Amino acid sequence: MKTVSVKNRCRFTVAGKPANRIESISAPYHVAATPNRIPLIKPRLLVNPGDRIKLGLPLIEDKGNTDLKLPSPGGGEVVDIKYGPRRVIETIVIKIEEEEPYETFSIVDAARLSRMRGDDVIHALLEKGLWPFIRGIPFKGIADPKESPSAIWVPLDITAPYHPASGVYLTGESAKEQFLFGIKILKKLCDRVFVYEHADYPVTDERLKTVITHRAGGRFPAGDPGVMHYQTKQSAKENRAWYVNGQDVLLLAEGFLSGRYPVSRVMAVSGGHTDNNRHVRTRLGAPLESLVSKIERPDDYRWIAGGVFTGYNASPDDYMGLYETSLMLVPEVKENELLGFARPGLRKPTCSRTFLSALTRPKLPVDADRHGELRACINCGYCAAICPVDIMPQYTYKCIYAEEIEEALAHGLLDCVECGLCSYVCPSKIELTETFKDMKQKYYLGKI
Ligand code: SF4
Ligand code: SF4
Repeated sequence: MKTVSVKNRCRFTVAGKPANRIESISAPYHVAATPNRIPLIKPRLLVNPGDRIKLGLPLIEDKGNTDLKLPSPGGGEVVDIKYGPRRVIETIVIKIEEEEPYETFSIVDAARLSRMRGDDVIHALLEKGLWPFIRGIPFKGIADPKESPSAIWVPLDITAPYHPASGVYLTGESAKEQFLFGIKILKKLCDRVFVYEHADYPVTDERLKTVITHRAGGRFPAGDPGVMHYQTKQSAKENRAWYVNGQDVLLLAEGFLSGRYPVSRVMAVSGGHTDNNRHVRTRLGAPLESLVSKIERPDDYRWIAGGVFTGYNASPDDYMGLYETSLMLVPEVKENELLGFARPGLRKPTCSRTFLSALTRPKLPVDADRHGELRACINCGYCAAICPVDIMPQYTYKCIYAEEIEEALAHGLLDCVECGLCSYVCPSKIELTETFKDMKQKYYLGKI
């Protein structure tokens, strides 16, 4: 097994790791597809309000590649389609019927899979609506089925705080069997399927160990598939790769074995009280409000879906996106601390040595305090020191600002894995990650 270590001197000591058990919550009455949360697709609607749709039948297709379709995460009536600015399709809401109608697909078991060629497997994944779980590196959109990837990476654990660990979603013999079957599916698509554990979450199950090829070492974002790929690729020819998160491998397998679109999802849900964080089993596209029924909430808070570094501000009437496994209710901070910069800061997050907490490293709850306002870059170099793919974010950002895109690409813009760390450590509060993400998307879509 090969170990890929990334040095990251920023130690995150967040409090409130969700308890390892999974709790059941009431099944939602509505679910929704959220195409605007899927990077790089240009959605074309295939349904209208009032239509009745079966679970697993397509709601939208990608105008750029009509083979890519996004299936309905529920069976019932399309009750609402919400649009954002410039008629962007934000959510397609389905009211689930009591006897939920679902589309049936052909079952592919181990014997049938062994007789299939790669093209047959691609066709089956597209037909069953499972293809969107396979994503591309470096752009993080849905993988292009016509492309030959240099590798497929499968992280068992998302190492950012507050995501379900493999020890939580891979419990029980059937889950493990299913995972191994999912890996067999991926091996039909590419010879180089790299399944990796993180050193902090070593796998003990003997059968799972047989498919593990790599171990990620170091702090977040050490386990990110883009980082793993960057650290191991041999040449620019290998720039393109694919990845599938461990939980989504289970869905690929379930879709093949059951002949039905799979919707089960384990989410980490955290509130403002750190001893109250938990995992819940729900379904894809569930309303965010339905996930927090058992969570004790802070007085005033904001909703963050998708993780503390990579997530986005959501609202209580939003729905879970296809790839999200984390929801947080982050306490708002009402007042700025008077002369806060002059205090020792025993309980302040710091990646530099600005505050005394750098010595004691207390576990701190996450809140919405930015600890400062936007100002000009002071060339401190913290962003470059923390970047796991050796970009110099401060220079790349300045190139973009000056519209020197070729220069930004030369600095490694496309290698950015959008981990969010440079924005987090920046004392000038510059939105580096969002800028890079936006430029990568524009580059992909040919807008620059
Ligand atoms: S540039 Fe920033 S967001 Fe991109 S990989 Fe480096 S630290 Fe992460
Ligand atoms: S961390 Fe922020 S202020 Fe420091 S060099 Fe990077 S962009 Fe500039």
